[in-house]
Amino acid sequence: MNRESSESQRRRLPTEPARPKPVGPGSGSSTNTAPIDPAAFDRLVDLALAARLRAHAPYSRFRVGAALLTDDVIFPGCNVENASYSLTLCAERVAAVAAVTAGRLTWQAIAIASAGGVTPCGACRQFLAEFVPDLLIVTVDVDTRRRSTYRLTELLPQAFGRGSLGPHPTPPPSRRSPENR
Ligand SMILES: [Zn+2]
Repeated sequence: MNRESSESQRRRLPTEPARPKPVGPGSGSSTNTAPIDPAAFDRLVDLALAARLRAHAPYSRFRVGAALLTDDVIFPGCNVENASYSLTLCAERVAAVAAVTAGRLTWQAIAIASAGGVTPCGACRQFLAEFVPDLLIVTVDVDTRRRSTYRLTELLPQAFGRGSLGPHPTPPPSRRSPENR
């Protein structure tokens, strides 16, 4: 979990609570194009805050909660640490894996709650970009409840992705037909 850069701090929205930018047409990603209802947005943040309380973080004691909004379902996640430190899972990836497992690949936004309102770590940025390169990310500071919004593309510019591998016979998840979900 990386602390927000000073650049990101400057990008904070001047008014609170933050509202998500309407999601525009993607370039093959599974971003939902409909703006998120403010009430649903608040619920997303609340679920991230709640998920944080279930974090298993006896080593770092840095608890993180996430809530991933798909087409119409929210998947929570919390960080899960392990005595074998390298096995630790971040909240963002826990939520993402749950959504993928449920076949929900249309993602609108992910809310992340932590002390300080940190942004996703590099590994999670890469992991999320696999599915929605321009995902809307909302961080919330659990102490001040201050929210900040980002696009994944600004947190992970010039990302390595499926296009980096050249032609591939398997269609991307976002192009799967509904019956395959
Ligand atoms: Zn992470």
